[in-house]
Amino acid sequence: KKHNFSAGPSILSPYTIQHTAEGVLDLNQSGLSIMEISHRSKDFMAIMEETQQLFKDLLDIPAGYHVLLLQGGASMQFCMVPYNLMQHKAAYLNTGSWASKALKEASFFGEAVEVASSKDKNFSYIPKDYKIPPDADYFHITTNNTIYGTEIREDMDCPVNLVADMSSDIMSRPLDPGPFGLIYAGAQKNIGPAGVCLVIIRDDMLERVPETLPSMLKYTTFSAKNSMFNTPPCFAIYTVQLVLKWLEDTVGGLDAMATVNRKKAATLYHLLDNDGFYPGTAAADSRSLMNVTLRLPDEDLEKRFVAEALENGLGGLKGHRSVGGCRASIYNAVSLAAVEALAQFMKEFARRN
Ligand code: PMP
Repeated sequence: KKHNFSAGPSILSPYTIQHTAEGVLDLNQSGLSIMEISHRSKDFMAIMEETQQLFKDLLDIPAGYHVLLLQGGASMQFCMVPYNLMQHKAAYLNTGSWASKALKEASFFGEAVEVASSKDKNFSYIPKDYKIPPDADYFHITTNNTIYGTEIREDMDCPVNLVADMSSDIMSRPLDPGPFGLIYAGAQKNIGPAGVCLVIIRDDMLERVPETLPSMLKYTTFSAKNSMFNTPPCFAIYTVQLVLKWLEDTVGGLDAMATVNRKKAATLYHLLDNDGFYPGTAAADSRSLMNVTLRLPDEDLEKRFVAEALENGLGGLKGHRSVGGCRASIYNAVSLAAVEALAQFMKEFARRN
């Protein structure tokens, strides 16, 4: 199989693919596929419950939070968060294109304040000095900026409810959900296939949701019905369950995952810092452990690098179309061996060119 450094949908572990394939052919010897059974069946209800429990166990989610599995992707959360939680004003940290999109959606619902932005340097760093308005209903951050390769890993002292888009770094390390009122993440990087979005919401946030919102856009609809108000994306949720089982049983939990992720990122950043051929684009103190963004001496070489890497079984290395350059996304299911193979290829490519 090819090594896949795509930014998302990303690679899944062989365990996940194998067991997903089995469930597609015949789920639990039921004689039916996961794609053919009722979402109200005993088999699917068990999958839904176990998936939610695995999230709670792996992320240490305390009582007082709901785990929701919704549709519409993380982009739907750009709108649902302000629609449900903004009464007058919300604060946003603008650290990239996704953060900008979240901010834009919020502006349709009230006063959306951009407390700081790193746009001045093409979002290559995480702003540090800013003031969060104490009367904001919440403060929204994007913990990992998939396109620019920057990440917020430190805990944050936040005087208002903290809301985070963790689409591209959730489950990459242990998390203390305590400071967060709401966390959301599209599945298709570290959680599973596209089609489902994780929302972890604290009970006092649910209490703020106005009764009068349309049912499908209201968190309380899904918290009251255990994410089964309507037909959920059964197939995607089944695969999410298998990703979480792999994380728990094969990887050994999020501490173990974090150790591997640190090693993978260190392998590439060490090369960027020492080789000189591949300047990294993110500021050293803001670097992401999930998306390593880099340039080459010129655009022709970048094109050749991406093409030759692919010929060598290393796919998905082209940077996002809005920024160019190259990007290696090294999500949970990208193995250390895959990263080492990439580093080896990069050294050879640099020597040859
Ligand atoms: N936020 C971040 C940080 C992302 O990386 C992405 C997608 N790459 C999104 C939001 C949008 O996710 P979706 O496609 O699920 O709407």
